[in-house]
Amino acid sequence: MGSLHAGHQQLLHRACEAVPAGRPAVLLSVFVNPLQFGPSGDFDRYPRDLDADAALAAAAGAEALFAPSVAELFPGGEAQLTGVVPPAALRQSLCGPGRPGHFEGVATVVCRLLALVRPDRLLLGEKDWQQLTILRRVVADLALPVTVQGCATVREADGLACSSRHRYLSPSERDQASALPAALRAARTLWRGGMASAALLTASLRRDLEAAGLAVEYLQLVQPSTLSPVTAASGISLLAAAAGCGSTRLIDHIFLMNRPPIVAIDGPAGAGKSTVTRAFARRLGLLYLDTGAMYRALTWWVLHRGVDPADAAAIAPLLVDLDLQLESDAGGEQRVQVNGHEVSEAIRGPEVTALVSTVAAHACVRAALTGQQQAMGQRGGLVAEGRDIGTAVFPEAECKVFLTATVEERARRRAADLAQRGFVVPPLAELEAQIAERDRLDSTRAEAPLCQAADAVELVTDGLGIDAVIQRLVDLFRERVPEDAWPGPAAP
Ligand code: C5P
Repeated sequence: MGSLHAGHQQLLHRACEAVPAGRPAVLLSVFVNPLQFGPSGDFDRYPRDLDADAALAAAAGAEALFAPSVAELFPGGEAQLTGVVPPAALRQSLCGPGRPGHFEGVATVVCRLLALVRPDRLLLGEKDWQQLTILRRVVADLALPVTVQGCATVREADGLACSSRHRYLSPSERDQASALPAALRAARTLWRGGMASAALLTASLRRDLEAAGLAVEYLQLVQPSTLSPVTAASGISLLAAAAGCGSTRLIDHIFLMNRPPIVAIDGPAGAGKSTVTRAFARRLGLLYLDTGAMYRALTWWVLHRGVDPADAAAIAPLLVDLDLQLESDAGGEQRVQVNGHEVSEAIRGPEVTALVSTVAAHACVRAALTGQQQAMGQRGGLVAEGRDIGTAVFPEAECKVFLTATVEERARRRAADLAQRGFVVPPLAELEAQIAERDRLDSTRAEAPLCQAADAVELVTDGLGIDAVIQRLVDLFRERVPEDAWPGPAAP
């Protein structure tokens, strides 16, 4: 809506980063949307400064400014416009009850802007978390061909989240306003000390805000993606507040997250999980855990000791003092040692590949390696890839992806990989048969079979380049773990 500030500036910078080299480019829309103001709202006095906006946008890298008048954007008039009505559950929590019609107005204008501009990516601030959540849902429900990206809230030096409406604040109100982020931070300190109850956290917030002379509109603890109220913080929760400061309405929130996030990436052999998962982990500042390498290393050890891979009773004693070490080298490649043997290369060979599914199917093997993986993930902050991560190892993972591709595509990738590693490349038909057989063994075994977790998102990678898959993973992650909760190393 214009009156740009450092928050918008960050959106423009992030948009510029997201644009592939040589492509056109970043467009900024400025439109004070009458549909989203109530009858007593501040539409008429909403700050407008198009010249300053144009200067800021150009300096921040925007190549086009789209600033239509109301008559240009709604040539048929506003009154008879087809409206977009987001789901009631999302509209009616947080800001909804105090602003009837607001989110319908936002959804309607954004759909129209998207249809006119047809961007690949829509960047929005996490500051207006409910708006971001609703627009993500609208885009998904209407199958609009755009990816919604949320960007971390930009704050002023004293913690106040940047907002165009702050231009309304008098100097003394501006001081008063900083009590809102301070109260949210104080509530988070209480939560870190063990206070999880929504009632207690909001009571403390209310005391702090009222003590600062702010007029509380609502205080709510909600689940961030459904926006439904929760009685106690668990997993990732959103503590949100709206309060009046003089005649200005302030909103803000804080995420309460009980540990760094866990991402589960499952899928069949050869779907390209390792390459993309490793790069994704680096981008998000998470540890990378290749659980397939653990099953492969054990298989190598079983063969090295001359044990029959099909004989669970003979394998069980090998598990007792199994010493499996996984480490990332300087280039981010995972190095694997089993009982002191460096096997990083050897475990990728055809002999281990042919037998690993047999070894991995034994209940004793699964119990031992699942236990070790869970111990590694106890403090969170990791991306684990495998077959049963979202179902058996980390069923509580914040983000679960089932990464797959057709057998034909996977066989082509396997052939390229074998050639690159210097192994003999069998005919494609043979590779396809091997992959189909491994799928069959992995998905029909009794213990922790390969299957998509009910809450996992399927990502089919046929025809997608590596960078596109990584970006898709980042986008899926960000729908569940906001930058405000886990900034990651790349975010400002
Ligand atoms: O992913 P990768 O091809 O290295 O996995 C090798 C094998 O290890 C899989 O085919 C499967 O049999 C087994 N595995 C498993 N559970 C995991 C990871 C791998 O059973 N979490």
